[in-house]
Formats: sequence, C-alpha cells, structure tokens
Amino acid sequence: MTGKHLMNRRQFIATTTVAASALGWSDQSWSAEPQPPLKNRGYYLCFMRMPTFGLAVWRQILDAVAEDGGNTIILWMGGAFRSKKYPITWQWAKDHENVKRDFAGELIAHAHQRGINVLLGFTPFGYDGVNQLPLEKPELKAIAADGKPVNAFGIGCWGWNLCPAKAESQEFMREYAREMAFEFYPEADGLFIESSDYAICHCPDCGPKFFDHEFGFVKDISEEIWKRKSDPTVVVYPHYFSGAKLRFAFAEATAAKKPFDPRWTLFSHRTALLWSQI
Ligand SMILES: [Zn+2]
Repeated sequence: MTGKHLMNRRQFIATTTVAASALGWSDQSWSAEPQPPLKNRGYYLCFMRMPTFGLAVWRQILDAVAEDGGNTIILWMGGAFRSKKYPITWQWAKDHENVKRDFAGELIAHAHQRGINVLLGFTPFGYDGVNQLPLEKPELKAIAADGKPVNAFGIGCWGWNLCPAKAESQEFMREYAREMAFEFYPEADGLFIESSDYAICHCPDCGPKFFDHEFGFVKDISEEIWKRKSDPTVVVYPHYFSGAKLRFAFAEATAAKKPFDPRWTLFSHRTALLWSQI
C-alpha cells in the first residue's frame, strides 16, 4: 500500500466539495490563485454526545479544524447546556462537562479567534434535550401511526418526540431555542435546524400537516434571529419546501411546500453523508 489513494481528513477537506456545495455556499469567485474550492468548510460535531470533553480538549479540536482549513462548525447543542427554563432537558446529561461548567461561550470566542464560525444545532420537537420534556408532560408525546403515543427513541439521549401541533410544544421549542441562541450563546453565528429523521406525529392535527406545524416554529425562530443578528447563517432542511415524499427510519411522510426565504441555507442528506465521512 503506497498511500497514494489514501486521504486523511485534512487532505479531504482541502480537496473535495465537502458539504458546502450542497449547503449552497459555493458562491465564491474563482481565480488563478490557489485557494480552497469552497467558501465554507467544516465539520458537524455532536457536542451533546461528547460528555467528557472539557474546554481544553474542545479548543484542541477547533485548532485542528483551523489547521484543516475549516472555517465553519456545527455544534449540536440540544440537551448539553444547563437550561434554566427547562432543567428537565439536561437531567440525562448531568455529567456532561458543559452542563457542569458552561464553557461553550468561551469555546465560541476561541473559534472566532481561529476564524471559525459556529452554528448551534438542534432538532425541532425531537432528539437530545427536547425529547426529555414528556418526562414532565407526557401529554405532549407525538402519536404513532397506530394512534397511540410514540415509543421512546434516541441515540444516547432516549425520550419521545413531541407533537408540534400542540401549543405547549410550540411554546417550549421557541423558549428553548431562544434561551440557547440569545441567552446562553448569543455570540454564535447562526442556527442549524435539523428536522427529525426518525418520526412524525400522526395525531388528527398533524398527519399530512406535520411539517406545516414544524415549519411554523422554524419560520418564527428564523425571523427572530434575523432581527437580532446581522447576517446570521440559518440552515434548514428541504422538508419544508420540496413537497417530496420522505422516507424515515420508521415512517413515511410528505414534505411541506412553503415559500423559501433566500436568507435560509439548505441542508441536504447528501451533505450529511459527506459530513459523516470525515
Ligand atoms: Zn400531532
């Protein structure tokens, strides 16, 4: 094996169209000067599922991102910060270093020193942190196709996705996302709003309109961050715009067909695949 065909992550990010082209970030102009092929380059990091890493380790990770030529990271934060409004969201993660001592703000400052933008990741009505709310409010659980509340599901953080048609679920998502983006980490550069890939709600109010309800939240939180920050990046999924048939791990659904605001940046599954390969 000569190594000729092997590529480490540094070479990979420097020479391929990783992620950013699918994110619609390929708006740089080409010139004769050698330069990275994409304007935005980086990694999707499951911050919430790396409980033992403290600030020192995370600084090293970001230094490596900078050395790789990266300038953007997604820090998936749901459940991994010490929410004051919803302590139930982090009871599963009491030993997470950022829950014990909130350092992500310092980490974002370090990222900026290294020329890296930070997007805060979370999933509306599902996954880590959010899926803990039904421990206190079981009536907010999404409904499965059989008409009964959904079973618990998760990766690391097990819980239940929420019915987005319920006013209390909407209120929770808005308050939780606001708290993360505007109170805990206002210096972050935007949001990565990752639509769930494992379930929708089949209650009479959701069903085919599930993504309309999810979109209502996504639109509102986007409007809010656009008002508060100058030129933030807000990454969303095609589920709100394409009208396409979607296939999840356990279900099928139809995407909503809504107007696309050009201030959004789209994330595709192709992008996710490329990110996961690094
Ligand atoms: Zn529902």
